[in-house]
Amino acid sequence: MTNNKQVPLKKGLWTEPDADGKVFLLASQCKKCGELTFPKKEQGICRHCQNNTFEDVKLSQRGKIYAFSVVQVRPPEFYKGEVPYALARIELPDGIRIDSLVADCDFEKLQVNMEMELVIDKLYTDENGNDIMTYKFKPVGM
Ligand SMILES: [Zn+2]
Repeated sequence: MTNNKQVPLKKGLWTEPDADGKVFLLASQCKKCGELTFPKKEQGICRHCQNNTFEDVKLSQRGKIYAFSVVQVRPPEFYKGEVPYALARIELPDGIRIDSLVADCDFEKLQVNMEMELVIDKLYTDENGNDIMTYKFKPVGM
């Protein structure tokens, strides 16, 4: 553990911890057709039905790997975390697939359909010594 201040990568991606310390990713749900969008949006129109009213909904903390890739070479600029890293598309039971980093684990063991759970984890430490936090998924029990 460090004493670094933990700062979310972006506000509104996940809920504040509840009484049990659990957090949930937040999506927008179209009030008319139920289409989910992650990350949530404050405005805009539904890509399915053109409705423009949404509400925030919590997404499931567990899902399955739909597809993934392990990246060995640092991409330019936008990514400041560790290399290698794994990116996965996670299929949630809510009826949405979201892209997520995979938390540190044995990437060799990742498989399609593997059960994954949400964690909030450090992405990198910025120049002011703040830990920039993001959501990731990790294999259940690994
Ligand atoms: Zn809609």
